[in-house]
Amino acid sequence: MSGKLLIFSAPSGAGKTTIVKRILEKLSHQVSFSISASTREPRVNEVDGKDYYFISKEDFLHRVAKHEFVEFEEVYAGTFYGTLRAEVERIWNEGKHVIFDIDVIGGLRLKSKFPEQSLAIFVNPPSLEVLKERLAGRGTDSPEKLQERFAKAELELSYANQFDVILENNRLEEACAEAERLVKAFIEE
Ligand code: 5GP
Repeated sequence: MSGKLLIFSAPSGAGKTTIVKRILEKLSHQVSFSISASTREPRVNEVDGKDYYFISKEDFLHRVAKHEFVEFEEVYAGTFYGTLRAEVERIWNEGKHVIFDIDVIGGLRLKSKFPEQSLAIFVNPPSLEVLKERLAGRGTDSPEKLQERFAKAELELSYANQFDVILENNRLEEACAEAERLVKAFIEE
């Protein structure tokens, strides 16, 4: 079967990963996470094949040449992220819908490839200042990387109105509940 695509995009630090994880807990029998391929280094708590398929740049570009990606992006200079066609098909073949935690450009690209089947949600952080505090508070990125993430976040905020829904993330609990409601309504359509 060909299921639906539940696309969550936002600047990094807006809280989308937490929201996506919550939906996965609540709707695990209907929805499964699209594990992206990435060329970045795993963070301390990340597991290969669970959070990402961590692959070399050489392997990534080889797969690009073989048209294995539904979409891919050089999200940060020299660092690639992409959604493998085989990953989406694996989940659909399990009879589930696919949920994506993906950057804004990638999210819009997916939506344009599967317009009827997609619900594209933009997670809006309370403000750019809060976003910057959250990113810095993670303590996982170098000052240069942080600067790059801030700059990208500002650009990404300008794409919000191209999404089906803008989900305000002022209070995480409320945002999670609203996301769950939106997803349930869309997959039951
Ligand atoms: P992080 O390095 O913080 O895990 O992710 C950086 C950004 O890349 C986030 O906005 C994340 O959602 C995005 N991302 C993760 N996987 C993909 C993907 O497969 N394609 C695209 N275009 N972006 C992705």
